[in-house]
Amino acid sequence: MELEKHYIPDTLMLEERAKAVMNCIIGMADEDYNYIPFFNANLVEKPAHMTHGDWDFGSSHGRLIDALTLARTMTGETFGEEVEEKYKENLLSFFKEDGMNYRLPEVIVGDPTANMIDQRAVILALTSWYLTTKDPKAKEAADKHVAALKRIAIKEKDVWYYPASEYTEKGWPSKNAVHIRLAPDPASFCGRLMMPLLKYHEATGNQDALELCEFFSALIIHRSGVFNEDGSFNASLAYRSGHFHTRIGTLESLARYAGFTRDASITHFVKKSYDWVLKQCTAFGWTPGDLQEQAYEHETCSLVDLIATGIALAHSGYSEYWGVVERFIRNHLTESQLLDLDWVEQREDKSMDEPGYKTYYKVAERSRGAFAGYSAPNDFACDVNHGRGHTSDLQLCCIGSGTRGLFMGWSNTVTEHNGTVRVNFLLNRGSRWLDVYSYLPHEGRVELKINQDIGNLEIRIPKWAGYNKVRVEREWEGQQRIQTGRDASSWI
Ligand SMILES: [Zn+2]
Repeated sequence: MELEKHYIPDTLMLEERAKAVMNCIIGMADEDYNYIPFFNANLVEKPAHMTHGDWDFGSSHGRLIDALTLARTMTGETFGEEVEEKYKENLLSFFKEDGMNYRLPEVIVGDPTANMIDQRAVILALTSWYLTTKDPKAKEAADKHVAALKRIAIKEKDVWYYPASEYTEKGWPSKNAVHIRLAPDPASFCGRLMMPLLKYHEATGNQDALELCEFFSALIIHRSGVFNEDGSFNASLAYRSGHFHTRIGTLESLARYAGFTRDASITHFVKKSYDWVLKQCTAFGWTPGDLQEQAYEHETCSLVDLIATGIALAHSGYSEYWGVVERFIRNHLTESQLLDLDWVEQREDKSMDEPGYKTYYKVAERSRGAFAGYSAPNDFACDVNHGRGHTSDLQLCCIGSGTRGLFMGWSNTVTEHNGTVRVNFLLNRGSRWLDVYSYLPHEGRVELKINQDIGNLEIRIPKWAGYNKVRVEREWEGQQRIQTGRDASSWI
């Protein structure tokens, strides 16, 4: 008897990409420096090398712990658990009694400081860590951290903010800055922080986290000036020249908060700005770094912010963004992942290394699976005449956020709400309700294998398909029914 064969199309599998990036998340660890991961890599230079940097502490560790948690959820892979343990131990060791996460004094000049951008990655990691393991260590640190974030916020009647980019053990570095109500770039330090705070509130009910979101969203929308009236970014120097990653990250925070509070006015605020951003980037999602000197370099981080904001808007009813986001996932996120390293020259020994700062050791092998740090629209390594020229090929933040981008695609491909199961992205995906087999882009064909009774099933038909031409074949108990999309909408 011949066995029935079911061929799976050889098309994009986000789970495979998540497995690939895990190699690099583990490989970036510096075993000669207490497993603190390297931050940058220069792959163009011969031989290639990786270096440590300012972001080595809460930011890098937070990003990688979050990314590993998401990649393991997608793949079930267990390799590198001992390195993950080191990352977690390190992250917890950077906390001080006051609940804030500090940079180690040996690499920074002067007193230890808690960088406010780092804190966002820290609470994100603790949230994912707690959500998947229910580890009380993660919750204890997170509760203390959120309480600290609330305690140190400068509170006015309608808005809260931070008066500097860094906090110290003795308090804010300048009493005068507090006095004269300085609120440096609220998008970088307050806006982006809302997203993990909201997630932490949803996971644990922590009220401080929600309250911070409430007052930060008021700050961004009503008082900050980060976004201009028409939705465009304020490009002045005080707003980091309209730095895309921190602005779009703020839009993601607001979009999720709007969904949570069911506040359509905030959703509208985000949509206006998102539509402006879509006009600044390529059709496949390459964004400028900012509106000034970084305009020619793109971080994977900004692309993932675009993906996450688009998904949040789609969940709030703007379903046209599902197609935009699928294009970004297929044509840029997965294209920004480094799988072929034949062009990178690596050393097989550590004789050229500068311990605690730089390594040349097996750089190609260790970075396989990474996402681009600063890329040009068509090149992984950016070395254009405009702007700053060649800077970093890998940045650890982008490796972490690239993984989060894969997870966002994977976890939103099939969703269920009140008995309606929706296929939002035409990507391969197994789920308890149904399995999606996608033949795209080789053939305009998608198969759904239904695993259980579904009250209402909807599948998004992409704009380019032409609804009238869509042919739907259903098979059930040997019966076949054929329909066309002639009288259907964009959802069938
Ligand atoms: Zn980045």
